[in-house]
Amino acid sequence: MAGKFNQPIRMCISCRVRETQDKMIRLQCVDGSLQMFMNHGRSFYVCKCCQTQEQKVLKALMRQCRSGDKDKFTNKLKEIIADDRKS
Ligand SMILES: [Zn+2]
Repeated sequence: MAGKFNQPIRMCISCRVRETQDKMIRLQCVDGSLQMFMNHGRSFYVCKCCQTQEQKVLKALMRQCRSGDKDKFTNKLKEIIADDRKS
């Protein structure tokens, strides 16, 4: 029973829901572009629910990355989510 609570809790940057880390996708920005977290640098989380709502999550992502390139972000986000579902 205790084990369930040992997971770190993270907050979704878009809807601010709090979830355990394994239910979130971890992303980061490097030089203004979005990518999966590579184990160093600043990162942030997006919950599973927001992953199906690209338009909503994009605003939060662009704010995190301080970028206005919406098309680039949309494509990259789709790519990352597709990869995540494969594994
Ligand atoms: Zn969310």
